[in-house]
Amino acid sequence: MAIERVCLECGERIQGRSDKRFCDDACRNTYNNKLNSDQTNLVRNVNNILRKNRRILFDALGSEGMLKIQQEKLKSLGFDFKFHTHTFSNNKGQVYRFIYEVGYLLLEHDWVLIVQKKPF
Ligand SMILES: [Zn+2]
Repeated sequence: MAIERVCLECGERIQGRSDKRFCDDACRNTYNNKLNSDQTNLVRNVNNILRKNRRILFDALGSEGMLKIQQEKLKSLGFDFKFHTHTFSNNKGQVYRFIYEVGYLLLEHDWVLIVQKKPF
């Protein structure tokens, strides 16, 4: 009984060794190039969102060390609440979300407290 294998790139049937995943080098190269550019784009997009989030928080802070602002205001500036670099819990169990060295704490009634942290 033969198992039919097909090329991951073009879907053509593969002849020969059982560990082959592509029909030829061209298909392997095309497939790997696509994979790499997808991954590169993903990383670039996330980096762009993080950079934008960080800038929005810094712009809002201005020269203040700490600032309360409405969530809606941040959203209207393009802030994306899904993306942050890490979290920090204080001894009261409050969880701050950080974008590099600037972070925020969600407060009641859709307020947000923006804080700055010294670099590690
Ligand atoms: Zn192929």
